[in-house]
Amino acid sequence: MDTRKAYATFLLGKTYIGHLFSRLAIWKRGQGYSAFKEKYRADNFFELTPEERKSFPNFQKCFNCGVCIPSCLFSVDLFHDELPDPESYACSLSRPLPDLWTASDNIYKCTCCAACEDVCPQGVPITKIVRFVRRKIEQIAPELVPYKVYMENIEKEQNIFGERPAPFVYTARQKPAYLLYMGCLYSTKERETGQKIVSLLDKANLDFTILKEETCCGRPIDINGNCSDGDLKRITEMNIKTIIAPCAQCYSSLKERLGDDLNILHITEFLSETKFKIKAKSNISYFDPCAGSGVGILYPEMAGGVAKERLKPFKEAGVEILLTECSYCLQNLRRGVSKKDKMKVYSLSEYLYMSEI
Ligand code: SF4
Ligand code: SF4
Repeated sequence: MDTRKAYATFLLGKTYIGHLFSRLAIWKRGQGYSAFKEKYRADNFFELTPEERKSFPNFQKCFNCGVCIPSCLFSVDLFHDELPDPESYACSLSRPLPDLWTASDNIYKCTCCAACEDVCPQGVPITKIVRFVRRKIEQIAPELVPYKVYMENIEKEQNIFGERPAPFVYTARQKPAYLLYMGCLYSTKERETGQKIVSLLDKANLDFTILKEETCCGRPIDINGNCSDGDLKRITEMNIKTIIAPCAQCYSSLKERLGDDLNILHITEFLSETKFKIKAKSNISYFDPCAGSGVGILYPEMAGGVAKERLKPFKEAGVEILLTECSYCLQNLRRGVSKKDKMKVYSLSEYLYMSEI
């Protein structure tokens, strides 16, 4: 054996024996992983949860076909120079993991509408990738999260606007069978519409109650995708089995977190079983909501641009009344209607209430 080989064997043996002895040091057990994490903290190294690890084979199925690109109204038609297209989300963000935080300039501009997912031949869950990246940025570089102020508001007043709204007016029931989950926008900025929705269900004699302090479902800031565990506990402790949500964002948020244990209904599902019917006196149409993702709050001008684009076909068709059933779509579509437009935008339940009185 030459000298170099002998020296290498000696080093290897020394390390191996050292490793065996180190395993005897019971008081140091379990510290290796912490030391590893500490060492790589500066490189923004992060952990994956077991669920996230399971998601990765799906995240990485993109084969760069580009089929999804034309489906993204936001990045292709409206803000081409400012935003990456869905293919770039799917390709670049599902691979170089430790660099995810570098996406923070753009990742909050995706509306998570899922139009790109609908056409992807590989079934790449692009919106899940976007939400995963947002979650990780919050963990590894919280200073880059643009909606810190909204999170602080939720912490203080349970809604993203930091307001403490007065309770809705309705008839209190003894043992309510339904919880009407109004969410923060209908409780604050779109309050007048919110009250009409509550009054409609009151008129329907629905056996319902409303949370004393309405809480944000968490979807508009979409970090963990939902309201805090404390809020969920508050809901489950009420022992009510069916929740009705008038807002599409609250509905999808609650369905994801509580859908296995509770019956979560969007208000349109409930209304379809009631006597209330649209009495169409004018040219009327419906805008079906997706679920949004905070873009309207963080980038209202961009969201307003999308609203104008979405409203074009309705205006061209001479629609006078446009209905929707999502507090955020309602707010944003109203941004896209000017005083000189003939069209008016209402929540579907609000419109039913107005037709009934
Ligand atoms: S989810 Fe919607 S906004 Fe986001 S990349 Fe896909 S199509 Fe574009
Ligand atoms: S995400 Fe799907 S549609 Fe888009 S480029 Fe990748 S494989 Fe093609």
